[in-house]
Amino acid sequence: MTRLTAGDPGSGSGAWPRPGQGAGTDGGGRWGPTRRSCPVAEPGCGPSRGPRMLNVPSQAFPAPGSQQRVASQGRSKVPLKQGRSLMDWIRLTKSGKDLTGLKGQLIEVTEEELKKHNKKDDCWICIRGFVYNVSPYMEYHPGGEDELMRAAGTDGTDLFNEVHRWVNYESMLKECLVGRMAVKPAVPKDCQEGKRVLNGMLPKSQVTDILPREGPSSPSYDWFQTESAVTIVIYTKQKNINLDSVIVDLQDDSLRAEAVIKDHSYLIHIGLSHEVQENFSVRVIENVGKIEIVLQKKENVSWKYLGDPLEKHNSFIPKKDTGLHYRQCQLIAKEDVTHDTRLFCLKLPPSTHLQVPVGQHVYLKLSVTGAEIVKPYTPVSDSLLSDFKEPALSPNKYIYFLIKIYPAGLFTPELDRLQIGDLISVSGPEGNFKVSKLQEVEDLFLLAAGTGFTPMVTVLNYALAHVSSLRKVKLMFFNKTEDDIIWRCQLEKLASKDKRFHVEFVLSAPSPEWNGKQGHVSRALLSEFLQRSLENSRVFLCICGPTPFTEEGIRLLHDLNFSDDEIHGFTA
Ligand code: FAD
Ligand code: NAP
Repeated sequence: MTRLTAGDPGSGSGAWPRPGQGAGTDGGGRWGPTRRSCPVAEPGCGPSRGPRMLNVPSQAFPAPGSQQRVASQGRSKVPLKQGRSLMDWIRLTKSGKDLTGLKGQLIEVTEEELKKHNKKDDCWICIRGFVYNVSPYMEYHPGGEDELMRAAGTDGTDLFNEVHRWVNYESMLKECLVGRMAVKPAVPKDCQEGKRVLNGMLPKSQVTDILPREGPSSPSYDWFQTESAVTIVIYTKQKNINLDSVIVDLQDDSLRAEAVIKDHSYLIHIGLSHEVQENFSVRVIENVGKIEIVLQKKENVSWKYLGDPLEKHNSFIPKKDTGLHYRQCQLIAKEDVTHDTRLFCLKLPPSTHLQVPVGQHVYLKLSVTGAEIVKPYTPVSDSLLSDFKEPALSPNKYIYFLIKIYPAGLFTPELDRLQIGDLISVSGPEGNFKVSKLQEVEDLFLLAAGTGFTPMVTVLNYALAHVSSLRKVKLMFFNKTEDDIIWRCQLEKLASKDKRFHVEFVLSAPSPEWNGKQGHVSRALLSEFLQRSLENSRVFLCICGPTPFTEEGIRLLHDLNFSDDEIHGFTA
């Protein structure tokens, strides 16, 4: 396994792959990182070494930062009883116990039948057409029993989508599966009939039943061909479309293209009629909102039709209803950043076009003791000191993550065990941060705690490179100790390189030698820190960290008279 530490020989600079570059190889041609070292040897720049206390699990369970607690704002979080963690649930599902009471038999469930199972000890819920007996899961549900009971005996799909559509319930609840709903959910007519699409323009009557009643107007598509290429054109009818609005995957000659338009997705999903090469290109013509996907034919023959429609083809639906689509990415490098945080570099398949918008996150999926576990992570750039002039929309071949490994965590120890070359599933992007929020901002304040620093990385890079009105960016970075500060050296270097940027570290458990700021997020710390560069300057604030930190920070910002429009809190 490639894990480089401060003393590794061969330390060089800038050998990690950047967008548009190849990955570094070692002498033997294996993929792996060449360590990027801080150009100046300063204390705290490299990974910490020597014995020290690793992040001790908190008394409360699930721990404050645990995904077993993390929830969208306003949702209640309840302490789970001893022995009711996610790992305990996985163990129960593997025990062979009959969790449905149906001895493994699957049944068709009518609406009348579903309604009858509406009590805690007999609770059935329908999610996306499948019915689960969730009674055995009640005590393990991180959101609490009452939250689950809200959907008892009903179709809970909307509620589920609203709260945590990314949770891999199919895997988590597979032993609770009772069966299918007797009435099938509506599917697009072109899929039902297995109809061939002769050109992309389906008659309007065939798509209206899957179009949203409100929201942006529906895109359409068409296709044309030359001797060697097939071009699919999506007419989004929107002007603010760019390359990170399009996600394209080509897998075994089936093409899935998703155009994200506000909070809706337009999907093209086709089993292509002929073979194509795995490399394709995506172009966006912004002023007319047109997306072109250019596929290279394997054989120079004329295609009579584009292909057969697959699930949700030519549909325009709220993004939350599309389901997460995963592709397998390869771990190509891993580097220690602090004693418990690593920089992971994943390589996207060549047959994928995916660029994660600034401040958004994706989901990583791994199998942990046989169950699929999904957790959100926020991609970062490979370094804070990348050349700002690099085009923001250059093709992204690599995704970088700064991830803290929790020794007692469910997901991160498994992630840490991955070897260079191993594959991991990565979803499309999610999140409600929009770079348009930074338009015309003069003072940008970033408040981060621990790995809550990750969304700040791309926000900071974007603001310094693209927001011409920007006068000042200030980061207040809360950590326990000096050893926990991610990219301290880079942050300090950036501050000396770009006079608009200032960084302030606050430690909650500093060593006696620390002479910087101490404590937790507080009114006193914030009011001193949040000084505008001009009396009425246009200001924007971002905050991210453990949920209670973010909630407390937002409360304090309101107290200090910042409005909701001026604050973005990163939450699940
Ligand atoms: P968990 O199992 O969730 O455990 C977390 C903590 O709880 C650990 O301290 C663990 O020791 C403790 N714990 C677990 N079980 C017990 C128990 N039985 N008793 C007491 N304590 C226990 N993280 C990053 O590092 N980088 C990112 O870029 C990032 N982006 C994110 C983006 C979003 C939108 C969100 C919501 C979260 C993000 N996170 C990120 C956090 C990440 O999703 C995970 O929550 C985190 O990696 C922990 O996962 P885990 O399964 O390893 O730990
Ligand atoms: P950590 O090291 O445990 O904590 C970082 C700092 O925050 C410490 O100084 C800590 O003080 C302080 N802190 C913790 N809880 C606090 C609270 N309730 N009020 C005030 N200060 C508090 O952090 P971490 O383990 O890296 O966790 C980072 C968190 O960020 C995770 O929960 C993760 O899910 C979240 N995150 C969210 C996103 C997103 O986009 N939503 C992205 C990345 C990360 P103490 O010494 O007192 O603990």
